Amino acid sequence: MNGIVIIGAGESGTRAAFALRESGFTGSVTLTGTEPHLPYERPPLSKPLNGAVQMKPICGAEALQAAGIDYLQGVSALSLDPDTRSVAFSDGRTLTYDKLLLATGARPRRLTCPGAERALDFRTYADAATIFSSADPGKSIAIIGGGLIGMELAAVLRGKGITVSVIEMAAKPLGRAVPPRFAAKLHARHQDEGVAFHLGQGIAAITDDAVLLADGSAVPADIVVAAIGVLPDVALAEAADLATGNGVLTDSFLRTSDPNIFAAGDCAAVAQPGGGYIRFESWRNARSQAETAARNMVGGKEAFGAIPWFWTDQYDLGLQVAGLPQPEHQSVIRQLDGGELEFYLDDGRLLAAAGLGSCNSVARDIKLAEMLIAAGINPDPAALADPGVNLKALLKSSRAA
Ligand code: NAP
Repeated sequence: MNGIVIIGAGESGTRAAFALRESGFTGSVTLTGTEPHLPYERPPLSKPLNGAVQMKPICGAEALQAAGIDYLQGVSALSLDPDTRSVAFSDGRTLTYDKLLLATGARPRRLTCPGAERALDFRTYADAATIFSSADPGKSIAIIGGGLIGMELAAVLRGKGITVSVIEMAAKPLGRAVPPRFAAKLHARHQDEGVAFHLGQGIAAITDDAVLLADGSAVPADIVVAAIGVLPDVALAEAADLATGNGVLTDSFLRTSDPNIFAAGDCAAVAQPGGGYIRFESWRNARSQAETAARNMVGGKEAFGAIPWFWTDQYDLGLQVAGLPQPEHQSVIRQLDGGELEFYLDDGRLLAAAGLGSCNSVARDIKLAEMLIAAGINPDPAALADPGVNLKALLKSSRAA
């Protein structure tokens, strides 16, 4: 028995290692990661405490040891041979496996313009430490990309008295994952806080002290950060001839084209019941796919079907989104004290919900909305819109029905 090898010690790989034990698996579990740290949480990286980047371990060395998980830190998997079920690592060792999990995550997309090498990434603890250690009050920073990283960073850096510019190719920031209503509210808040936006702009070049835009203008910048999205890390899978596309392709059980190899988290593109593949890039998804993959690696047959969910904190505002809101959905708004919920229905069926309010004030409502979505109900839009109608009562009545 060679046991289970996990490539990637981020949220997904680490969660999978523990989930294997929770599933009763007693064989060997080896978790491998390229970074020279214990596995750590990424969400706190954009929220420094007293100026210092937070290193929040997912688990301590004792927890790994207590669970009987061998953790190989600071080693990269160089090649994978599905025929011999073996992986070769950068430190010269080769591991064999019965089952393998690819939890290789994603890598920042790189700019290709002249001077692109000056742009810093924001993905790892080391990236965050580099940026925050040089971002002193009075300095100017240009963030290229107005997505989740760009906007979260902008909020934190404005709080430190830094001049922040966000350069975004699209006409509006947060266009990818955030429903337009809330993207507009967050955009307005950033403007109120003094963030300068350069929208609909490509980058011509990055110089020693500025970002030059395609329209010929220059955005002064002591520091430049590129936050233009990520690409799934499929190199190992591709070289091993596994099926890949926008990620490592898996069936609904998170099994790749090789039955002994599974994939989970940012790198996994999962087959959908209606056809096609979807890849999610979020903390919750990394964990829930890890748990499903772990159970399936030890004999389970569970299709992955968790409702997507993510949150973002910007200034004192917290946004949560459950499900996948689409422009064609019917929108129903519920006003809250100091916040707002938006429900998304398709042909009467509740499919998604989002909420924006101070700190995590919408958390409870979004949790209930998630349960309503999971219940597969067709709620009365008037009840959804009415703040006097308790969502918990709606859930109870829908369950009773
Ligand atoms: P992102 O959310 O995909 O946003 C990247 C943004 O950059 C998009 O708006 C994109 O526009 C824009 N862009 C692309 N190329 C550009 C260019 N050359 N010049 C200017 N703008 C450009 O990615 P991210 O902010 O880099 O975050 C990386 C990953 O971490 C994402 O998967 C994100 O979901 C995840 N993350 C999640 C959270 C959270 O859940 N709270 C927080 C941080 C990060 P187009 O869409 O038009 O290409």
